[in-house]
Amino acid sequence: AKEGGRDGYRFYQLEMQTDADAKLQMETDLRHALSANEFKLYYQPQVDEFGRILGAEALLRWFKKDGEMVSPSEFIPIAEMTGLILPIGEWVIKEAFGQLKKWKQADIAPDFRLSINISPYQFDQDNFLETITSLLNETGVSASYVTLEITEGITVKDIHLTIDKMHALTDLGFKISMDDFGTGYSSLMYLKKLPLSELKVDQSFVRDLHVDQSDAEIAATIIAMAKSLSLDVVAEGVEKESQLSFLTYHGCSVFQGYYFHKPMPAKEMDDLLFRNVVV
Ligand code: C2E
Ligand code: CA
Ligand code: CA
Ligand code: CA
Repeated sequence: AKEGGRDGYRFYQLEMQTDADAKLQMETDLRHALSANEFKLYYQPQVDEFGRILGAEALLRWFKKDGEMVSPSEFIPIAEMTGLILPIGEWVIKEAFGQLKKWKQADIAPDFRLSINISPYQFDQDNFLETITSLLNETGVSASYVTLEITEGITVKDIHLTIDKMHALTDLGFKISMDDFGTGYSSLMYLKKLPLSELKVDQSFVRDLHVDQSDAEIAATIIAMAKSLSLDVVAEGVEKESQLSFLTYHGCSVFQGYYFHKPMPAKEMDDLLFRNVVV
């Protein structure tokens, strides 16, 4: 047993080392990814209960030279640890604004809104407001069609500073959405104080709500709470008809999930928007 334990330990160390090596390798690769043009934005439609497209969420994709696709949940944490999230996040905003501008100019998306994920690390930068304002001016897109998705990870150390920053953003015309709601630690008081327009019910509550009574209750409670705070509510990770009908019954009216559409390249979104306008 002793031997086994030691082997187990050695194996563990080896695994840790491999893990650290992999992270280092990913950091090196990430540093090149921007200049090598390896990032792409995909778009996942947000729809009403009838499937009509109201907007989309921009989701980052990394295609390495060898064709391998790395998931954002793998590389975003490393980008955040290394600070690379700042140039990457800026690229995302610029790319998303540029694409939105094209859709608006093509006149296939008059009321269409675009949601962009903002890392807490990015949001907390002193110059975030300047950065996003200059990207807005550069691309000439209207902030009133853009929703910024933040998470409960944003700093609440100086809540007044955070509130001021959010107000400056909403003054520019942006809407602010609280993403992954229910998975973090934000108190109800902050929810009331922050100038939010939207809550996103995290997919961890949506996934099993048709079989798990407590997930169902949490999802219903979040929807009710959002409504009582006059916030829009978006359910993500909707994969089944039964989830859709439960959420609709409880008052949710915007949905995102594989049941309707998977995230897709801009080109595919073009076609979808075109059909959406025509019908
Ligand atoms: P998120 O913001 O919660 O995005 C929703 C995730 O759920 C996306 O994963 C989406 O593809 C996935 N999803 C949507 N519908 C369904 C469904 O019906 N079933 C299932 N199983 N999954 C569904 P994705 O694209 O892999 O992104 C993962 C996370 O990476 C995002 O979670 C977000 O936290 C982060 N991320 C993605 N793009 C960006 C970005 O541009 N900037 C930042 N800071 N983070 C990003
Ligand atoms: Ca999101
Ligand atoms: Ca989310
Ligand atoms: Ca998530």
